[in-house]
Amino acid sequence: MSEEWSVEDRILVFTPTGRDAALACQLLAGADLPCIPCPDEMAMCREIEAGAGAAILAEEALLPWTVNALREVLRRQGPWSDLPLIVFTRASETNEGILATLGPLSNATILERPVRMSTLLSAAKTALRARRRQYEVRDLLRRQGEADRRKDEFLAMLGHELRNPLAAIRNSLWVLDEVGARGDQDLRQREVIERQTRHLVRMVDDLLDVSRVTLGKIILKRQTVDLEEIVARCLHELGLASLAASHGLTLRVETEPVVVDGDPVRLEQVICNLVQNAIKYTPRGGRLTLTVRAEGNQGTIRMRDTGVGITAEMLPQIFEPFTQVESSRIRSEGGLGLGLPLVRGLVELHGGRVEAQSDGPGQGSEFIVRFPLRLGKKPARRSAFPSSPAIGGGEAAGLSILVVEDNMDGRESLRDLLEIWGHKVDLAENGHEGVEQALAVRPDVALIDIGLPGMDGNEVAQRIRAAFGTNHPLVLIAMTGYGQPDDRRRALQAGFDSYLVKPVDPAYLSRLLGEVGQQLRRRVAS
Ligand code: ADP
Repeated sequence: MSEEWSVEDRILVFTPTGRDAALACQLLAGADLPCIPCPDEMAMCREIEAGAGAAILAEEALLPWTVNALREVLRRQGPWSDLPLIVFTRASETNEGILATLGPLSNATILERPVRMSTLLSAAKTALRARRRQYEVRDLLRRQGEADRRKDEFLAMLGHELRNPLAAIRNSLWVLDEVGARGDQDLRQREVIERQTRHLVRMVDDLLDVSRVTLGKIILKRQTVDLEEIVARCLHELGLASLAASHGLTLRVETEPVVVDGDPVRLEQVICNLVQNAIKYTPRGGRLTLTVRAEGNQGTIRMRDTGVGITAEMLPQIFEPFTQVESSRIRSEGGLGLGLPLVRGLVELHGGRVEAQSDGPGQGSEFIVRFPLRLGKKPARRSAFPSSPAIGGGEAAGLSILVVEDNMDGRESLRDLLEIWGHKVDLAENGHEGVEQALAVRPDVALIDIGLPGMDGNEVAQRIRAAFGTNHPLVLIAMTGYGQPDDRRRALQAGFDSYLVKPVDPAYLSRLLGEVGQQLRRRVAS
């Protein structure tokens, strides 16, 4: 036989009497099979970790700690690993008795002593073939895992890269708004661009959030919250009642106070996603019912619709990323198939569960979310939501603002917008220039992109803070495509006062600058 043996084809031999091991090794070596005698179970486990095709054990070696050590080393290798064992027994021992001793290590061939040479060789070769298959499965799983990881990283990067162009488009839209439309046609085109941009922003947000959930990068900001309040917030924020009406649907909402421990922003995301889907997948004339109830020790949200329904085969799949039911894709208003995976990821992060039910196509669907109830604590009224800066309006005008941004469109559209609001604007297109300009201009506010070539935004902020000390009341605002908690923490440590994720909402920015203006005036007055 002229086979190429690898370390993963080695046959380990562990028998308490050295004579058996020496004999078996002699036989295997005679047939050109690679054989390693092991003095004890620990040595055998080490060899298994290094790579092994099969193990030969004498029945006397099958003591409880040996079986446990073997079980543990195979468990560590993963579900693909089920090392073939060849066990030499005494004539008096039954196969059932040996198998009971081995427990879950049931991939065993039992050979009665005295073992015939041809029987041992054929058992060893069969075992090696089976083990090679296991290693092939291991390699396949590794390759798949690697491809999966690369895909997740790519999606996270894609989402981030898409934010820059979106930020520029959004700024330009605001500039057009401020300049004023020239006629009905202008206005209509502008509305189309705005609607579609909003749609794009939502998709990019979903893409980034799903990536963060799968990469384990979402950290919940938990507090005691009332689901009833979150539903109300969600309906109000998105104008869901009128959205449903515009789709010819009736929306019924039945809620009661249900207190859970959760992140209000993420819970709102879950509920909004489910309601938006119900609207999307229900034809005109349909009915939607959203209920929030305390059921036993659980808080339950049910979103029921009379829409297109889901087939039994699709039900288990719709929570997987990128799944879309073929028929619903044709009628849907678009989407990436990321809403439900995000819902599931966020619900599970809260220790809850989500399930979908449907009696089939045309029969409507129901999505049920269950969270553990928070007992004995009332939510802090209204504190559930991050406060937004007070509206500053015209009071913001007249600030000196430095914009440090390497994306040309993003930089210039932001300058136009800020100038329209009445601010004096200076621009820098990289970190070094940003620091120089800041020292030369001494602005009231610096809006600094984090992902700059050469010197990143955090370093720019640090250098500016170090140069100005505490005397100059400069407000540093970070603008970034990376909205993860770690990035935010780093930016705040670097000396930023605020942290905005792109595409920055111009209304929010305007209010923020309004507050800065007021603070500066108060400081000057005192
Ligand atoms: P998207 O809506 O972007 O396609 P989702 O992850 O939100 O992605 O939903 C995945 C799929 O599940 C949808 O494409 C649709 O086929 C199905 N689905 C979701 N919600 C409903 C619903 N309320 N009724 C019927 N089908 C639904």
